[in-house]
This record gives sequence, C-alpha cells and structure tokens, in this order.
Amino acid sequence: MSTTRRGFSYTKTRAIFVSYYRDGTWDSGRLQEDDHITISAFSTAIHYGQQAFEGLKAYRRKDGAINLFRYMDNGRRLMDSCERMVMPPVPLQLFDHAVKTTVLANEQYIPPYGTGESLYIRPLVIGLGPVLGAMPAKEYMFMVMVSPVGPYFEGGLKPVRMMATSYDRAAPHGTGKAKCGGNYGGSFLPQKEARANGCAEALFLDPATHTYIDEAGAANFFAISDKNEYVTPISSSILDSITQRSLKTLAQHKLGMTIVERPIKLDEIGTFTEAGACGTAAVITPIGEVLIGDKIIKIGPEGVGPISQRLYNLLLGIQVGDIADEFDWITIIKQE
Ligand SMILES: *Cc1c(COP(=O)(O)O)cnc(C)c1O
Repeated sequence: MSTTRRGFSYTKTRAIFVSYYRDGTWDSGRLQEDDHITISAFSTAIHYGQQAFEGLKAYRRKDGAINLFRYMDNGRRLMDSCERMVMPPVPLQLFDHAVKTTVLANEQYIPPYGTGESLYIRPLVIGLGPVLGAMPAKEYMFMVMVSPVGPYFEGGLKPVRMMATSYDRAAPHGTGKAKCGGNYGGSFLPQKEARANGCAEALFLDPATHTYIDEAGAANFFAISDKNEYVTPISSSILDSITQRSLKTLAQHKLGMTIVERPIKLDEIGTFTEAGACGTAAVITPIGEVLIGDKIIKIGPEGVGPISQRLYNLLLGIQVGDIADEFDWITIIKQE
C-alpha cells in the first residue's frame, strides 16, 4: 500500500508525447519533458471545441510487468471521434507508438501492483490556429499524457445515488457518440446540481423524449434484471464504452447471462435488481438509488449487488493480470 492515498488528480510525470499534423501528414512525434504547450490564441480547439480525447490505463502486474487493456479499441474510437470533429484521424500505428512510448518513458510513475492504483493515459487531439472563422483548422496536435491515479473506491465498491437530470449532454443526432470536450463542459452544471442534491452524479436521459436512460456523466449505464439479463440502453447519443463492451462479454460468457440491448425507461428503474455505471475510471459504480424529481427510487436490496461485484472482480482481475486473458484483451508492453 502506498502511504499517500491517491484520487483522480494530476501528478506531473517525466514526459508527454507530442505529434503535429501539418501539410497533410502527421509527423512521427517526440517526447517532451515540459507539460505546457504553446499554441495560437486563435486555435479552433479553444474557440470552437474542435478536439477529441481518450482515456485508458496501464497496469502493473504481480510479476512487475506492465500491460495495457484493449488499447487499440481506444485508438479506433479516437479515429471515429476525429472524423466527427472533422480532424485528421490519428493513424492506429501512430497511436500505438505514442501510447507505448509515453507509458514506458514514465515507467517510474506506474504504481505498484496491489495498491489499486494505475497509470491513467490521456490521448488528446486539438485543432490549432490561427483560425478566426468557425471552420476546421489546417494544423493539429496529437498528445499523450499520463498520470498515476488511485482506485475510485477505497475499501471496495459502494452504491451511490444518482439524479435523473432534465439537462441533456448531447443532442439526439449531435456529438454524443464522440469523446469530444464539448460534451463535458456542458455536463458540469447538471453534475453540480446533482451534488447539491446529495447525489454522486447526474443521470442523463434520451435528449429527444426524456423518457429513457442514456448514461451518466462519463460512464455508461447497465442494469440487471431478475431474469438473469444484463440490460444496456440503445441510444444514438451515448458513448460506446469499452468497459461496457467488456462487461457484456463477461456477463454472457463467464456468468451465463443474457445480454439485452433496448431502450430502458426511467420509470422501470425500480424493477431492476441491480444497476450501475461503468467506465475506465471506476470500472463499475453501483447505483443504489435514483432521485427522480423529489422521489428517491431504490434499486434492489441494500449494498453492492452480487452480479456487479462478480463482474467488477472479473474485469479488474483481467486488467491487472490476475485472471487469465481468455478474450485477448491484454498487451504486455514490458516484461518484468
Ligand atoms: C469515456 C466515457 C465513457 C466510458 O468509456 P470507457 O471506454 O469504458 O472508459 C462513457 N461515457 C462517456 C460519456 C465517456 O466519455
């Protein structure tokens, strides 16, 4: 156990990776020790939100080796987000090189096995300038930064209360499927209101009708039914979570559950035996209660549901190398 408890806050590491897109091509990139960048004050990223990012982790295994989890899925999703924001997609080869190079350059910052801590990896693509009008940039920057982060829940999973919000994070045919910064700036206010109402997070509904559950701020939603079903929402405005994909695979192949993808009505939330939010940061955040208007709806019995706990143990076990990688999700980038 480390002596200081680490949350999800930034610690400067040795180096960041920087590559530029100019004259129609991405350069091969380089590491730089300074974690500041100099860009035009007229960059499209800061005026018009032309940017996209990713979030993934590197883990230290019991034997000291370092591994990544499904990281090329993040590379492909970043390409999709770039297309949506009319930015030149970062080639998978460059993404692969940048992630590995940055993690290995910062190896001393990867927390030890058994602490629950890991190295968070943040790839980022931004439109540069100078550009005055609202139009795509000609030049771009791709960066990869890392920071050690702590476990989201210290001392195990704990169910939270979420607040069904009347704000939308994305429009019905907007940018909800892209991991672009604009979706998050707009979610800070609903998040602030949720916290002011005693809730951990805002739960967003489908923006067209406000009838169905979309997702939480930066995590997908799932529910467990009493028919041994793992239920996830269908919606055009949610981000395709890699954690969610992995949990579906585990629910189906390791727990023998049926995967059901369908619109989930907010007013059926109380009929589920378990519910949760899932994403890279926390893996699973169990949802014990939802505040809807002035009513608190309880989900299942008190405490963490057994299926959520088993899924969490399975996925985290695979991510840190304690459970066999039978789905080919792990890439070891350095042997001990
Ligand atoms: C990043 C993110 C998620 C989680 O995706 P993972 O790939 O599982 O980390 C879910 N929803 C939103 C809105 C996100 O930005």
